[in-house]
Amino acid sequence: MSQAVSLLENVRIVLVHTTHPGNIGGVARAMKNMGLSRLYLVKPKHFPDEQAVWRAASALDVLDNAVVVETLDEAIADCSLVVGTSARGRRIPWPLLNPRDCAEQILPALANNEVACVFGREDRGLTNEELQRCNLHVHIPTNEDYSSLNLAMAVQVIAYELRMACLANEISHDEMEGWDAALATADDLERYFVHLEQTLIDMGFLKPKAPKQLMSRLRRLYSRKRMDELEVSMLRGILTATQAWVSKAGKGK
Ligand code: SAH
Repeated sequence: MSQAVSLLENVRIVLVHTTHPGNIGGVARAMKNMGLSRLYLVKPKHFPDEQAVWRAASALDVLDNAVVVETLDEAIADCSLVVGTSARGRRIPWPLLNPRDCAEQILPALANNEVACVFGREDRGLTNEELQRCNLHVHIPTNEDYSSLNLAMAVQVIAYELRMACLANEISHDEMEGWDAALATADDLERYFVHLEQTLIDMGFLKPKAPKQLMSRLRRLYSRKRMDELEVSMLRGILTATQAWVSKAGKGK
């Protein structure tokens, strides 16, 4: 295996609440054809299942090694870059890429980081909340009158573009190579957002009864930059200090 293609080992495909086990098998096959092997299943309706085995053909190893988890957060906790896929536009516009540009953006991260590509339910796709867990959104530019691809075919297109990007970049270079801190994981970011939300409530800036889209927009803002662990812990330090001030001011009243 060439070194460039071996980078694909750091990509995980995450399927959220898949209904038809045949699609899980189809995804496993699409992955193996493109050299991907790490499949995460968030609460699949039926798995293991004979139909998954039939559709996987010679990719049974991908199925056998699939990791089944209860929540999307568990599936992406240790990932530094999370890509969500969507068959249609959503209420809050997010940085939106086509699969080719997306693969180019993912490639530099692959040398030192875990990257997740997240796919939604057959009937409803990903919820807005799930999409807001993602740094980037990808849409395969399909026919506007019929935009939704079969799940395994959507995985095939993304995996193909990832493979092509690796092959085109035999010598990959990471723009963050030599960085002095590890990138923050999805788990670090979730804890940061919980802390941020609570601080904004304490300050009276975020009204829990009328939150508007404040947290969604802040999530979008932060997702445009890849923060490292030190930056997240610095921001959390600022939040803790702010909370202490707010509490002191409250006591003085
Ligand atoms: N009816 C759903 C479509 C679900 S298709 C909806 O309107 O959202 C199942 C999954 O396949 C999607 O969640 C997405 O992960 C992927 N998918 C299908 N078509 C896609 C497209 N054109 N671009 C990107 N992902 C797509």
